Amino acid sequence: MPVPSAEPSAARPERTELAVVGAGPAGTAAAVTAADGGLDVVLLDAADAPGGQYYRAPAPGLGATRPERLHHNWREFEALAARLDRHRTAGRIRHLTGHHVWAVERRAADWTLHAVTGPDGRDGACTLDARRLLVATGSHERQLPFPGWTLPGVVGAAGAQAMLKSGLVLPGRRIVVAGSGPLLQAVAVSLARAGARVPALVEASGYAAYGRAPMVLAAAPGRLAEGARHGVALARHRVRLLTHRAVTAVHGTDRVEGVTVSRLDRDWRPLPGTGHRIDCDTLAVGHGLVPQLDLAVGLGCATRCAADGSAALELDEELRTTVPGVWAAGETGGIGGVRLALTEGELAARSVLVDARGGRGTARTAALRRARRRMRAFAELMGAVHRPGPGWTDWTAADTEVCRCEEVTTGAIRTAVGELGAGDSRTVKLLTRAGMGWCQGRTCGFAVRELAGCAAETGGADRRPLACPVPLSVLARAALPEDT
Ligand SMILES: Cc1cc2nc3c(=O)[nH]c(=O)nc-3n(C[C@H](O)[C@H](O)[C@H](O)COP(=O)(O)OP(=O)(O)OC[C@H]3O[C@@H](n4cnc5c(N)ncnc54)[C@H](O)[C@@H]3O)c2cc1C
Repeated sequence: MPVPSAEPSAARPERTELAVVGAGPAGTAAAVTAADGGLDVVLLDAADAPGGQYYRAPAPGLGATRPERLHHNWREFEALAARLDRHRTAGRIRHLTGHHVWAVERRAADWTLHAVTGPDGRDGACTLDARRLLVATGSHERQLPFPGWTLPGVVGAAGAQAMLKSGLVLPGRRIVVAGSGPLLQAVAVSLARAGARVPALVEASGYAAYGRAPMVLAAAPGRLAEGARHGVALARHRVRLLTHRAVTAVHGTDRVEGVTVSRLDRDWRPLPGTGHRIDCDTLAVGHGLVPQLDLAVGLGCATRCAADGSAALELDEELRTTVPGVWAAGETGGIGGVRLALTEGELAARSVLVDARGGRGTARTAALRRARRRMRAFAELMGAVHRPGPGWTDWTAADTEVCRCEEVTTGAIRTAVGELGAGDSRTVKLLTRAGMGWCQGRTCGFAVRELAGCAAETGGADRRPLACPVPLSVLARAALPEDT
């Protein structure tokens, strides 16, 4: 365990009217809209630059001259970043980069945010009081375990994309992209454009299921065009699109040498005798994204079960959570993509402005609300189409590791449920330690719930008192009375 290298600074910035946590598309759009309306805003993000996951820029030291080549809509982001810069220069937004918020608590009429800086929170700490709070903490990738998924050379699909965008590196030369969800197409296209050979994109669902909701599709022409663009790009790079199939085993001793791809039934159960091998040196795999809810759940914000089976914040039309004084935007309200995140960020800030300054919504607010409804409907459809089928648990063997941090296997989880009587994921955790490690169940939480047969539980797994590792010295200081 690393020892803190510096005493926390414990600098206490002034009180602000609005704290926005997360400078991704949603949080940045919210911060600039609120500042346009005259609010004093503090924008905090663990990252060193604004943009979040979608607009993840190459690290400055790499000297990338054309970052836009890795993105769509880069001009839109440049315009947003320019607005942020103007507000920063004018002092209307204080942008605290490299600040990981580890907890938020209610103190009288304010929210008190606790943040740490530097790797593992070792460089310093700060506390901030805010009258209102907007949570735009985005999402992380969902993984389902299968034999061989811990072998070197298996990487997250979204992780591979992030690695390429920020580090300008490929995780391998011959990369199979697998899992479920539209993000896989973007990942396969990016990797192929950057020079990797992508022999196959393996999608566990099929795309025909989108046809079940023609009205929702018709209202999302942008998403259809994006799908068509990706289809053309995949064909150009000779990426084979294999639907209703999954990688059910990874081969290799020290690192990936190939994968077995099996056909699935409609519940994602592998069909016997259908497995075939594809040679590759890397597998980029992911089964969608999961909202990052620790801070909001810690404050008592209610969650709902989204169509993709993940917990998402329950929000009203104004993007208010169920806790007065707390708003949320973007992926925290359910996975929906960058356009929805930008729309919700602006809409949430407009609602904050009405709360702070009075007045009523404008025609622009009404238009944003309509756009949000359309995009949320598409997001729910997308979630339902790509939601892992119950048969995925047949991919795992008794000795497949599910919780990598604590090395807990499928067999141990099944024993906890079948023989020791665990009826919920918390009891499974107490009996097996699944979810008690470094990532605090972010990677294994969904899989453990499903293996334990408690898929309907939502939100509980996201209740983490600390949203990131915090040095004991910082915790001790936070526990002291204010005047000591
Ligand atoms: C690894 C990854 C890669 C992705 N790549 C793509 C892609 O290539 N194309 C695509 O269409 N979609 C991609 N997505 C989906 C993408 O995240 C969304 O479409 C969009 O970025 C959502 O915007 P957002 O503002 O809601 O969240 P995000 O963009 O995720 O921004 C959330 C921000 O909150 C910050 N944050 C989180 N918790 C804290 C905390 N406690 N304290 C301080 N800061 C915090 C994060 O550092 C981050 O900057 C990716 C998602 C992930 C997880």
